Amino acid sequence: MPNICENLQIIGNRILEAEKKYGREPNSVKLLAVSKYHPISALETAYACNQVCFGENYVQEMQEKAEALQNRNIEWHFIGPIQSNKTKHIAAIVDWVHSVDRLKIAKRLSEQKPKNRAAISICLQVNISGESSKSGINETELIPLAKQIQELSGVNLRGLMAIPAPESNFDKQRASFAKVRKLQEKLNQQGFDLDTLSMGMTGDMEAAIAEGATIVRIGTAIFGARK
Ligand SMILES: *Cc1c(COP(=O)(O)O)cnc(C)c1O
Repeated sequence: MPNICENLQIIGNRILEAEKKYGREPNSVKLLAVSKYHPISALETAYACNQVCFGENYVQEMQEKAEALQNRNIEWHFIGPIQSNKTKHIAAIVDWVHSVDRLKIAKRLSEQKPKNRAAISICLQVNISGESSKSGINETELIPLAKQIQELSGVNLRGLMAIPAPESNFDKQRASFAKVRKLQEKLNQQGFDLDTLSMGMTGDMEAAIAEGATIVRIGTAIFGARK
């Protein structure tokens, strides 16, 4: 069994170190604990060690966990591929959706958000590796889509999310994340006010922080390997 609390502490320190090393404000990078495939008990342990933001990839799994942990003050983030017939279940639970890749999904989340809750914070998932197999929005589609999404009242467009192809070389990791940062800058030059870059996982977290990540999505380094 991994020591989840100790792992959270180690990751927290790694984030602080990277913020310092790359000239980022202390505590400007938020740690999202990615808990997919891990049992409710693992989330309970992490929560008891002050982790409040959790990311899930599968709707039914998130529903089960959110139900079991409803008395906790957890901030749920959905980070997986989205089928349009599942948006209602997502909208009922989450504060954040990182993986929005088309207008239809943003519209449905906006309409289905419970009336008594704040607008759902969303990121647009961009495809920067240029592989057709990877999901995400291409650079040419990004600005028109962002303009349409900005008109929706139930969602709040906060930034961009990316999952670059796995790469062990630090400079190459950085180069991919730099592309995401430049897209954010481009949008902000066009009048957008995006404050979020969701990028960096267990294997490339420091490179992402070097290029401006504001949310890192960490699973393995907290909870251990997934089945
Ligand atoms: C699983 C997953 C993560 C976490 O990956 P690790 O390498 O285990 O840290 C982050 N982001 C997304 C979108 C994921 O699906």
